[in-house]
Formats: sequence, C-alpha cells, structure tokens
Amino acid sequence: MSGCPVCGDLAPHALRRIVRTPRLTVRQCQRCGLHLADPVAPLVGKAGDYYAALPLAEYIAYYEPLRRRVFAENWRWIVARRPTGLALDVGASFGWFLQAAPPGWQVRGLEPAAEVAALARAAGLDVRPGGIEALATDPQQYDLITFWNVFEHLPDPQGTLAIVREHLRPGGLLALAVPNRQGVLNQLAYLAYFLSRGRIAGPLHTLFQVENPAPHRFHYTAGDLQRLLAAAGFAVLAVVGQPIVDLRRLALRAKLEPDGGGLASHPLGRALLTLAVGVSWLLRLPDEIALYAQLCTSPQLAPSEAPATPGREESAGAFGASGWMSASLLHQSATVAARCLTG
Ligand SMILES: [Zn+2]
Repeated sequence: MSGCPVCGDLAPHALRRIVRTPRLTVRQCQRCGLHLADPVAPLVGKAGDYYAALPLAEYIAYYEPLRRRVFAENWRWIVARRPTGLALDVGASFGWFLQAAPPGWQVRGLEPAAEVAALARAAGLDVRPGGIEALATDPQQYDLITFWNVFEHLPDPQGTLAIVREHLRPGGLLALAVPNRQGVLNQLAYLAYFLSRGRIAGPLHTLFQVENPAPHRFHYTAGDLQRLLAAAGFAVLAVVGQPIVDLRRLALRAKLEPDGGGLASHPLGRALLTLAVGVSWLLRLPDEIALYAQLCTSPQLAPSEAPATPGREESAGAFGASGWMSASLLHQSATVAARCLTG
C-alpha cells in the first residue's frame, strides 16, 4: 500500500498500523483518518470466487429479502431525481437491483463471478461476466452507475472513479453502499479489539470479510467518501443509512459466518445484535450507508472544495429526507453541488 487514496498523502509514515492479527492488518491515515486494510493471508482466489466461499442457499435465503427491500428504497431515491435512463450495476450479483428497476429504466450489470452472472442471465437479465475492468472497454454512456456493497472491496478507488467518470453522461448519477466505519457495530468491533489488547479480533475479521477471496480493502466514513468523490469530480447529493441485518431472519445469519456463527448463533447473541441495531438507529450511526452523487458538469471546481481534514463532524449525523450527514457536511456538499452542477 503506497499511500492514502483519499487525501493523497504518499509519505510512508502517514499510514499508522492500528490493528494487527494473523489475518488482518489495518492502517490509519494520520492525515485524513481513512482506514486501509492489508489482507495478510494470501488471497485464495480472485474476486470472481467471492461466492465460492459462501454457503449459497443460506446466503440467498438471508440476503435476498433484505436486499430487495433496500434496493426498492434505492430506486425510489433515484427515480425521484431521474425518472428514466440507462443504468449499470457493477457487481450485480444475482441481479436483484436490476430486477427492481422501474419502467423507464434500461438496466445491465457486470458480475465477476461467472456462475452467478450466468444465473442472472438465466433469469432474463443483461448481466455480463466481469468486474470494473470490463467497464473500461465498454463504449456505453450511462445515466447511473451503481456499486452496492462492492466499492469497499476495490483496491483502487481513485482509478475506479476515473473509469466511472468516463462512462457517465454529464450530470450522471453514481450510487454506492458501503459499511460505515462510524456505525455502532463497526465501532464495537474496534472497541472489543482495543480493550482486549488484540485478543478479541473475530468481529473485526467478520467486518473486513478476511475469509473472503476479495476482502474489504477500505473502511470508509461518509466524510472519507465525500472527500474522495469531490476530488474525482462528483458532488455528493445525499448519504442515507440503511439496514445490514435482517432481524426477522437473524438465526439464518449464523450459517453465513465462517467460524460457525459468532453472535448470531446464540439467542443471547441475537438479542445483543438486535439491541445494537436499535442503538445504531437511535444514535443515527447506521452500520451501512448508501451514498448518491452526481458527476459535476465542471469537474475542475470540485477538488478545491474538498475539506482537508475530517474533524469529527460526521459523527453527529442526521437522518431525514436528505439522508444521513452532519449539518456542516450537508452544507458543504450542497455548496459543492450547487457550484459544480451549474458551473
Ligand atoms: Zn489520508
């Protein structure tokens, strides 16, 4: 890892190691606060093997109802601003987001797991095998490009955004969902690790998906993403908290954990998880955030607007029609949006 992709600090001392286990190293940028993960264990496969490591039937039984609910919400947000268009979903998985597309939207997907892409095609969807690199040779211009629970796995966020910029029409939308480092469950995982002096690392391993062939490479906050996107010529329109845990199917979740279940395998653990989810919504610190951004029509305005230091302002977030963001971040974002979308 040569430096920080959010603030561009390339000095070696800029990244301080804060977590080290036999499976995972997490470094924190001393300038902007971004968390970067080095997968310690050699990767057992390519990104396309993501699903090979999962019990597929349980994965679908647990995630399909949850994701369909969330995707319907994502589409509502998009359609309110853009009623029609051509969309591309990167990491389309089984195609649940594409299937939820409202009339007026033409949709296609890219999925690195060839067998999963084939299943989506068998369901009548235009899902091609491949990852973000396949987009580089796609001549199409899109009105919307999405990365649902994909962006945190990508090792080169700046390079990815440059490719996205090339393939969006002017004023096109980018939408993505990532784990929120400021979420309650996320913070508890770090707390358990630090308080136990590194002995309790299981929650962090789960969080970074270290068992997976394509583990999480970055742990973002809304502020990190806002800075990253501003520097790439995007104006963030909203950040919205969304559920990561299906409380009605929590018992199923245990079968998805590589260690045989963790918290979700015991009734008491499930009660604690339920409590933590409730607390995260009460404190407005959701463990997953969806972010909606628009490609600036005059991108040169955006980078200078990116705030240089994160402070702690994002932690006092607010849900609402405009999503989850601090008042100052929202104001900053609205200013960038107003200037770069009319410029
Ligand atoms: Zn940084």
